[in-house]
Formats: sequence, structure tokens, C-alpha cells
Amino acid sequence: MEVLKNYINGTWQESREKQTKDVINPASQEILAKVPFGENTNLDVKEAVSAAGVALKEWRNVPVMKRVQPLYKLKQLIEENIEEIAKLITLECGKSYAESVAEMQRGIENIETACATPTLMQSEFSENIATGIDEFMIRQPVGVCACISPFNFPGMIPFWFMPYALACGNSFILKPSEKVPLTMMKVFELIDQLDLPKGLINLVHGGRESVDALLDNSEVKAISFVGSTKVARYIYQRGTTNGKRVQAQGGAKNPVIVMPDADIEMTTKIIADSVYGCAGQRCLAASNIVTVGDKNGQIRDSLVEAAKKKTTGFGLKKGVEMGPVITPESKTRVEQLINKGIDEGANLLLDGRNATISGFEKGNFIKPTILENVPLDGEVIKTEIFGPVMSLLPMNTIDEAIDFVNSNSYGNMACLFTTSGLNARTFRNRANAGNIGINIGVAAPMAQFPFSGWNDSFFGDLHGQGRHAIEFFTQTKVVIERWPKEWTRKF
Ligand code: NAD
Repeated sequence: MEVLKNYINGTWQESREKQTKDVINPASQEILAKVPFGENTNLDVKEAVSAAGVALKEWRNVPVMKRVQPLYKLKQLIEENIEEIAKLITLECGKSYAESVAEMQRGIENIETACATPTLMQSEFSENIATGIDEFMIRQPVGVCACISPFNFPGMIPFWFMPYALACGNSFILKPSEKVPLTMMKVFELIDQLDLPKGLINLVHGGRESVDALLDNSEVKAISFVGSTKVARYIYQRGTTNGKRVQAQGGAKNPVIVMPDADIEMTTKIIADSVYGCAGQRCLAASNIVTVGDKNGQIRDSLVEAAKKKTTGFGLKKGVEMGPVITPESKTRVEQLINKGIDEGANLLLDGRNATISGFEKGNFIKPTILENVPLDGEVIKTEIFGPVMSLLPMNTIDEAIDFVNSNSYGNMACLFTTSGLNARTFRNRANAGNIGINIGVAAPMAQFPFSGWNDSFFGDLHGQGRHAIEFFTQTKVVIERWPKEWTRKF
């Protein structure tokens, strides 16, 4: 089987590393490709950084209006190829075809938003800050930028960064997750058609070795990372110690509160989609569902019914709503966490363990699972499960529920379901999380807003997407100018 190539300096090149890792379809265990994986991938990174450094010299002075033109073309090419890209996402990542198309759509929206860079990166100017002296601030590119992305959104996440970095005049290196490199291989085939300067955008494969090579290379000035909290913290520490600007988005454990006045039908549908969408492998997946004053267990019963109805299977099959988790190890880990919850005293309302799907017996499938009354200090309540598991937590008041939300060490998302404006305002003011949903189950910011994780869900200052991305991918320069002869005369 052919080993995937890197895209460096505008050409497809074999890696210097001969060791490989299999890229596997999580629904069948079929080997889809082999990806370079090992120590020598650092040599690939070195070459990519050097090519990006050369490309940068010219690109940083290309007028911004010209720099966004390739983005319009890229959007068109992705739209023309969206079916093929979405199929690749489903094959290597497992999510349903509809989820893969939706993911790519969110990527496209970031390209569209980055097309506003000519306006977004405009300067500020003050005339006569003192007589005859003007002062202004310009935004210049940061330099060679790199992105390290996770497995769960192979098509969308690189676009939280790449289009903005380019439009702002930087060059770029992408290191996709070794578990799902095929999606970006296809996207880079399209990028290859854009006629960009050689070395402006590069793709290198690998794992820790290629990441460390990016973190330690002094020519790389900015790192955008998305992945687990443990690795995000490491990337932030090592990158900033080496003097780079770093934005590192980490894991999550997202709470949702359901008030007794919530619309049960709508709430049930939205929460079930949030918990079980992408098989729970989403940094904005709802996980801990706090039901306030659900005395008759109405919302509990309706959530169990909705969860039972979810169709699990191979994501390219019609009607499938939920695919497998990414690896057999993930499946084992999730099932062990369910067991742990039961050991901790939880009531298993719906058991998705040991799921087998006809025709896909080797797949990493777990069906929707619901635990009730898990102890608040238990491991299941605090750990990011990253699988299709819902924990139901009955509580008595909104204050108790908000205190629970704020005890979370993460802070990616918190949601409230209610028909009361007062409840909504109280919650959005007090909830300790960066993305808030009111009657929304997956509070994913649109491209023009920052993807605003807090606490252990984010390390850094500026988030991905929108204006934050423009700020991250530019450095400000303030110029004070005096022109005594010409400007101090009376006008
Ligand atoms: P991961 O941290 O295992 O891997 C992410 C990237 O880091 C990959 O490219 C991988 O090759 C690299 N990597 C892994 N271990 C490394 C190490 N020790 N040193 C250097 N690099 C390393 O994450 P994952 O399993 O691919 O993705 C799932 C995680 O990502 C979840 O925790 C999820 O919540 C999180 N996530 C967060 C967001 C967000 O916006 N906050 C979005 C998507 C996913």
C-alpha cells in the first residue's frame, strides 16, 4: 500500500521517515493508507519550514486584496468536491455522511469570513497627536505559522486558522492528525491547483516528533493547536517557552441544564443530537445533563426514548445517524468509563456497550448510553468521555445547577434550556464557560465569532476564527512620524 506523501514547497514528496502507521476505517478496521510516523519526520518539518520561510518573503508584501483571491477559488473547488471530501471524512473518522458534509460547510464559512481580511486588518491612524506629528498602527504578518489538528474534525479545524493566516500575509504548515490524514490530502490536491507561490502552504505528516520539530524551530512564529487538554497544555508551554505565540484549544466536559419550564419536545431532540452527534466525539458534545425539578421524570423518559431511536452504523449507509468511535482503544476506554460509573453507584438507564452492527462486526461501535444519578465527585462526571454517553443529574434549583456547571475544570460550553428570560440572563451571566447556548445544544460559534473556550479547554489569549484569528496572525507595529518642514506650517 502506498505511503502518503508530504506537500512541501509546492510538490508532493516522500517522507524521510520510512516507518509508518496505518490509517484505519473505524467502522470496519480496513486499512485505508499508511502515513509516515517516526523520528525522521522532523527532517520533513525542517524542509517545510525552510520552504515556508522563502515563500513568506514575497507573500507578506502582496497586496491583501490579491492575497484573498485564492481563497475564493479554494471555496469554489471545495464546494465542487464536497461529496468526495465528505466521504473521506466518514471513511477515516467514522461520522455520518451528513455530519461530514456539515463539517465541511463550517470550514467553507471560515474561508468566506477570511475573505473580509482586507477590511478586518485595516490600520488605525491619528493625525496631529502633537503639532506636526502623526501616529499610526499597522498590522504585519507574524511569519511562518503552523497548525496541529485533531482527529475529530479533519475537514473543518484546519480552516479555523489557514485562510486567515494566508490572507494576513503569513506562510503556513499543517500537521494533520495521523489518524485522519486523507481528508487534508484531498484538500491539498485542490490547494495545488491554486497557483500559489511554492512553499506558501505545506502539509507534513507524523506525530509527536513532527510536532516537536515545529515547536522547536525558531523560524516558526505561531502555533495553532486543537486536541486534548494534556497535549494542549504541553504545546502551549513548550511553544511559548520557545518564544512563539500559541493558541491551544483543549478538551471539554460540557454541562447542560434543563429547567422545569423548558419545552420538553424541542429540548429532548436538541440534547440527544448534541450528546450523540459524531458519536459524542465532539469538543462541544453535551455530556452532563442536569435536570432541574424533573419531578415526574418526564425529560428523563423522553431522553431515553430519543436515545433508543438513534441509528448506529457505518456512516456512508443511508439512515445512519451515529458512527463508531475512532479506535478499538477508544471503545474500550469509553466502555470502561461506563463500567466505572456503574461501580460508582450510577443507574444504567440505557446500555450501549458490546454493540455489534451487522456487516461491520469489527467496527468500534458503542450505542447510545445513559447513566443516571452518577455521584458528583465521580470520575464519569469529571472526565471527558468522548463517546456516546449521557449522564443525568437531577437537581433542585438553578443555583445548584450553575454551581455544578462552575465546578467544571473545563469551560468549553455550557447550555441552558428554558422558556424564562430571567433564567437565561442569570445563566449567561454566571456560567463559567466560553461558549454559551440558550436553547441550543451545540453552541458552536459561527466563523465570524471566536471559538471561545475557557479554563482547561484553552491555553492562550486569542482564539481561532473571525477577528481573533486576524489578531493572532498579525503583529501590530506603531509608527510615530514627524515631518517638521512640511507639516508644521499653517495649512
Ligand atoms: P490529541 O491531543 O491526541 O491529538 C491532537 C494532535 O496532537 C494530533 O495531530 C496528534 O498527532 C498530536 N499529538 C498527540 N499527542 C502528542 C504529543 N504527546 N505531543 C505532541 N503532539 C501530539 O487529540 P485527538 O484525540 O486527536 O482529538 C480529540 C481531543 O481534541 C478531545 O479532547 C477534544 O475535546 C479535543 N478537541 C477540542 C476542540 C476545541 O475546540 N476545544 C475541538 C476539537 C477537538
